[in-house]
Amino acid sequence: MNIEIKDILSKNILSEVKGYLDVGFTHSLNPYSGCAFFCTYCYVREMPIQRFKDIPWGEWVDIKTNAAENYLAEVVRLRRRNKSINIFMSSATDPYQPLDRKVALTRRILEAMIEMPPDLLQIQTRSRQSFTV
Ligand code: SF4
Repeated sequence: MNIEIKDILSKNILSEVKGYLDVGFTHSLNPYSGCAFFCTYCYVREMPIQRFKDIPWGEWVDIKTNAAENYLAEVVRLRRRNKSINIFMSSATDPYQPLDRKVALTRRILEAMIEMPPDLLQIQTRSRQSFTV
């Protein structure tokens, strides 16, 4: 399958959580938009990010190339305001989908987290790749 892959700059990387994630998490972090795993049960298919897209779910991925830099800048701002930072990564993509092996964006974000740790991080993936951190 051909997958349309684009590099993009995102304005923010941390999103305040609402709904089902509001159970101790304060922010979600999605390194990518889109997901090459294209699970049939994926709820993101029904979200606006896909509904208003003219490419089927699973056939496009946007790489948020400035994610690690955004993370550091946003954490500085949140810490200044004494905010908790409990992160769920990721709610609308998979941080370890196949292209991350080459792009290593999730690794760069984790390295930024070593520099400026969140209070809590939970990573959700369906990948079976093994990693060395
Ligand atoms: S891995 Fe997660 S985000 Fe990706 S298609 Fe499957 S359910 Fe959706």
